[in-house]
Amino acid sequence: MFYDNSNIFAKILRGEVPCRVVDEDDHTLSFEDINPQAPVHVLVIPKKSYVDWTDFTKRASTEEIVKFTKAISRVAKKKNISKTGYRVISNIGLDGNQEVPHLHMHIIGGRLLGPLLESKE
Ligand code: 5GP
Repeated sequence: MFYDNSNIFAKILRGEVPCRVVDEDDHTLSFEDINPQAPVHVLVIPKKSYVDWTDFTKRASTEEIVKFTKAISRVAKKKNISKTGYRVISNIGLDGNQEVPHLHMHIIGGRLLGPLLESKE
């Protein structure tokens, strides 16, 4: 799967573009979304280059997958939405409307989010 090194999250990981860090470990970086859709909107990304969830589950080590999963719960705890609830979304590919081709999970919460999809069309 082709990975485009010029995508914005690759630039953030290289320190070329700033971000507001929420959480970090050796395999993951979590930061505030620049265009938040709710009071809490954080993006969790792996530090290595993976295009999407399909690519990640195919090539990442078990340690990377475990740490990525744990980072999501850690972010929810840090942002105080563990108890009130939240939504984890990963947009994948064309139909998923993925804009940035580096795997990311959206952690969204802090208000009642309503149904997952607005329209069934
Ligand atoms: P996607 O549509 O690929 O699932 O989501 C990409 C997300 O990245 C969007 O929610 C968008 O607001 C966010 N984003 C795009 N550019 C930047 C940036 O430069 N900094 C940050 N923090 N978020 C960004």
